Amino acid sequence: MVKLAAKETVQDRLSYCDPCEHNKLGICKQCGCIIQGKTRLADTSCPIGLWGKEEFGIKSLVED
Ligand code: SF4
Repeated sequence: MVKLAAKETVQDRLSYCDPCEHNKLGICKQCGCIIQGKTRLADTSCPIGLWGKEEFGIKSLVED
């Protein structure tokens, strides 16, 4: 079953992806993922470790 990330986590991730030099037309050139989809999944991570608050997002999902 696919687990979705908390809304706050998605927003936080996008704050890193939106201005990222590896974001090319919505595709992450580091991992090849569609950023709008990738950021909504709970069990994903930035391939070069740019996302913050990763643990906060997973914790929020469990508490929801
Ligand atoms: S997942 Fe990481 S490397 Fe890829 S676009 Fe987002 S911040 Fe950049």
